Amino acid sequence: MSKKKNNGSEGKETCFMCGRELSPQYLIQGTKGFLCGDCLYYMAENYLNMPKGQPKSENKFQITNIPKPKEIKEFLDKYVIGQDMAKRFLSVAVYNHYKRVTQDKNLPDSVEIEKSNIIMVGSTGTGKTLLAKTIARLLNVPFTIVDATVLTEAGYVGEDIESILTRLLQVADYDVAAAERGIVFIDEIDKIARKGDNPSITRDVSGEGVQQGLLKLLEGSIVNVPPQGGRKHPDQKMIQVNTQNILYICGGAFDGIERKIAARLNTQVVGFSTKEDQKQIDRSNFLQYISPQDLKSFGLIPEIIGRLPILTYLNPLDREVLRNILTEPENAIIKQYIYMFKLDGIKLKFEDEVLDFIVDKAIEFKLGARGLRSIVEHIMMDAMYEMPSTDRKSLTITLNYAKNRLVNANMHTMG
Ligand code: ADP
Repeated sequence: MSKKKNNGSEGKETCFMCGRELSPQYLIQGTKGFLCGDCLYYMAENYLNMPKGQPKSENKFQITNIPKPKEIKEFLDKYVIGQDMAKRFLSVAVYNHYKRVTQDKNLPDSVEIEKSNIIMVGSTGTGKTLLAKTIARLLNVPFTIVDATVLTEAGYVGEDIESILTRLLQVADYDVAAAERGIVFIDEIDKIARKGDNPSITRDVSGEGVQQGLLKLLEGSIVNVPPQGGRKHPDQKMIQVNTQNILYICGGAFDGIERKIAARLNTQVVGFSTKEDQKQIDRSNFLQYISPQDLKSFGLIPEIIGRLPILTYLNPLDREVLRNILTEPENAIIKQYIYMFKLDGIKLKFEDEVLDFIVDKAIEFKLGARGLRSIVEHIMMDAMYEMPSTDRKSLTITLNYAKNRLVNANMHTMG
């Protein structure tokens, strides 16, 4: 909103979009305040560049049907194997997010519903991004995935923290109101952890400084966002975005956090508990005991942790889960291959032992779910090359065939 200033800018008004102070003759008065010529031009240009017939973003992101938590989870189940705990947390958080953004605040009994940003901890390749992407398919609010590793403090090489909101504005077709109720998935949040437990005297460009910057986005505030991303510079027109209703889902592998959890549990057990409790700790998966204090020992600042009240974890993928990932999801790898061959009129079959063999190799190469595809790819490469030029109508992949193909393949290219 425009304000009269007394600091040497007497008689000037502020453009509500970019915040520049100008004499009134360069501004147009609108319902929200004053708008400068540049911003007016920018908005007009964007409007004119919109493809014809494209639904207005107002309609594109109109919330008509709010999926219930169980429906959200059922949808996630189609694409993501296991990870029940994380799915439940996500489903509830997303449902509540919808309730907040559609809440009628004028009702006499309305209560301010606080937002519940989420943090998911789990080894790489366990499905954090897949969960976020799958949720995005279901949603009719703007959604974007950003990588925390590219963010640095203002003035350093990298991207300004506000660029997170640029992406959200872009997917919302610059409809600020829609972006203001969007969802952002921040991947690799662990990479901006403070290096070492003590606050450093030297500047921690990509660590604590970024966390401080992120804080502004996580808590509700008005942020000036460069519409095209990149670095902010004084002449750039900014768009003001209120972050109060934006839901943040963060994900990170937090490599080595198990040791911190174990250390905490051990001290607790020694200090306060009986031998019985000690026995009940499942030492094969410490992540299930994760608590906010472990995130702090890892190097997240308490203010950030406080802004991510929902903490959940992903399980490591065991043999059975990997096997299911191969064949069960709606777009499972094996289903994709069968379909590809079917398009050439070829009936493709995999012997059961082949599927077990693929899983064994993924475990042996420590490639997790990410490796499944590259192993199948190596096994199938020759067949994909040869078969379309033959008139064979069926192909069965046997264990021997799979083993031979993999021996010939260059293992170093996998992963
Ligand atoms: P990260 O946890 O590192 O974000 P991703 O979600 O990117 O891992 O997973 C990498 C790939 O592994 C996905 O594209 C998907 O094919 C597969 N994958 C991982 N976990 C699962 C799972 N629980 N269910 C189905 N596929 C999975």
